[in-house]
Amino acid sequence: MAAGKEFMVYNSMTRQKETFRPIEPGKVSMYVCGITAYDLSHLGHARAAVNFDVLFRYLKHLGYEVTYVRNFTDVDDKIIMRANKNGEDPFSLSSRFCKEYLNDMGDLQCLLPTHQPYVSEHIEHIKDLITQIINKEYAYLVGGDVFFAVDKFPNYGQLSGQKLEHNRAGERVAVDSRKRNPADFALWKSAKPGEPSWESPWGPGRPGWHIECSAMSAHYLTFKFDIHGGGIDLIFPHHENEVAQSCAACQESSVSYWMHNGHVTNNNEKMSKSLNNFFTIREITEKYHPLALRHFLISAHYRSPLNYTISQLESSSDAIYYVYQTLQDCEDALAPLLEEGLKEGADQNGKIVKITLTAQECISKLKNEFESKMCDDLNTAQILTGAFQDALKFINSSLNGLKKKQQKQKQLSMVQSLIDVKKAVTDDVLDVLGLKSSHTYSEVLQQLKAKALERAGMVENDVLKKIEERKRARENKDFAMSDQIRADLTRKGIALMDVGKETIWRPCVREEPIKEEEKQLPTEEEQKVLPVEQKEEQKQLSSEEEHNALPVEKELAVSTWPNTQVQNGFKNLSFNNKDKIKGKVNSTRIDFLVIKMKTNEKGLKTLSFNDKDKIKGKVNSTRIDFLV
Ligand SMILES: [Zn+2]
Repeated sequence: MAAGKEFMVYNSMTRQKETFRPIEPGKVSMYVCGITAYDLSHLGHARAAVNFDVLFRYLKHLGYEVTYVRNFTDVDDKIIMRANKNGEDPFSLSSRFCKEYLNDMGDLQCLLPTHQPYVSEHIEHIKDLITQIINKEYAYLVGGDVFFAVDKFPNYGQLSGQKLEHNRAGERVAVDSRKRNPADFALWKSAKPGEPSWESPWGPGRPGWHIECSAMSAHYLTFKFDIHGGGIDLIFPHHENEVAQSCAACQESSVSYWMHNGHVTNNNEKMSKSLNNFFTIREITEKYHPLALRHFLISAHYRSPLNYTISQLESSSDAIYYVYQTLQDCEDALAPLLEEGLKEGADQNGKIVKITLTAQECISKLKNEFESKMCDDLNTAQILTGAFQDALKFINSSLNGLKKKQQKQKQLSMVQSLIDVKKAVTDDVLDVLGLKSSHTYSEVLQQLKAKALERAGMVENDVLKKIEERKRARENKDFAMSDQIRADLTRKGIALMDVGKETIWRPCVREEPIKEEEKQLPTEEEQKVLPVEQKEEQKQLSSEEEHNALPVEKELAVSTWPNTQVQNGFKNLSFNNKDKIKGKVNSTRIDFLVIKMKTNEKGLKTLSFNDKDKIKGKVNSTRIDFLV
């Protein structure tokens, strides 16, 4: 264990931080719920993947041999519905989106888990597990369906704190008369026409959602393993049901630590598919470097909600640029000296070179701070400030010092100090956080610049022309003009810097356009008006048995739309969360307005216009100006 500190993790089961002690010394077994592959993955998926990747990397950094399993759900209602709609085979659809997910994961520098099982490849294990549960009388058969009987499992609700009394039939959950308790959930679903199915002792069918994770974690990690992770949304019912299934099949079954990451929010409202206020990873990485996105994702503690704003991404992008520029400058300054024959750690005569006292302090502070924050339930939010910034400052100021003439021995000591501090920054911090790119520093800087140009709507030549214009203005002593050119570029996220007689540029945090653009995202493409069938698809999903425990209010949020009223010269248009909205009121995106609006007790949101408002857009497939 590094620096003799204990690794503390928050355990959702006991609701407290606990010292991490693996079942088998030196080894860690970890299972994290993966995606249901029917669409491009969004920011919530990115957050879970990046957080558990940081955990995976940190455990390895602590010296553990880690077996990390993350599944792909490739058999599921959502996949089947989407595939039917596309007229596509469900497995071809899911394999396409699994590949897209892996591309996103590669961009975000998430290491590959040890195993990435697909549900469809583990049907036999799933059937075996269901058989064990039936044999132990925790499940019952109705027609070709197999249900888990929650009443048989007294600890049901232990993880989520949900009480069974809250799920009484007809009150808060949908009624399915075939179930003994409305909270019972399907382990096996009988085959329906047009759906993939497998033979089983209970007739042809396919697994329910929850059973796959119990079966695959047991298969790869046995019934006793160290860490089970996932997004906070999964605590209930998914993880609660997993606990029930696994314990029913094997009494000794246990997960030592349940870890859950928080939501991603947008305008402080939960980002979700149903609210249609989510962003895909791809949309963001088209505009921002994936390292900037990763930096943003770890800039909050993993259990806190993380509010997505463009300003935050801009800051993260800027922070990454600064880190890589510092490392590049350091490499540039050291390269000729190392070429001169300086060997790391020793001078030409083989004499050991000592690093400066300041460098020693800088390194020990950096390492101590890193370990103590990471040991405290992965407090990544506080790592990229403090000692980390001090180390970057040390590199930059030493680079300036290096340019001055000085004694050979002193210079050697400074060079060695730079080598060691840089190594601590890259290998001890950036690598463990997954922020160390496999590309060279200069490649990353170029990529960051290319993204900045795209955001500014420019190509590099435009910037160079502006630099020339500014140079001429300065020569003509037209300083108002030269300031204006510089200020205009800064607003667009392009900073000009005069270095000697030369002017260079680098990306910077954009100013004014951000506010406007936050309203603009998600992109037009993302906000495509979805066909009515898809609305139906969502309606059906909310009544799926997995979502039984949803409060009735949510189930009722099926609209009375179109619903327009005229009141005091204003026209009021109501939407619910499932309406697909695209368009503008004056210059503001309607979906942005709707997301910000207050919701009434029926889940309806109301938007008001007057005759002077310029309205253009669609709700579902109906023109909105036509409606009002
Ligand atoms: Zn799962």
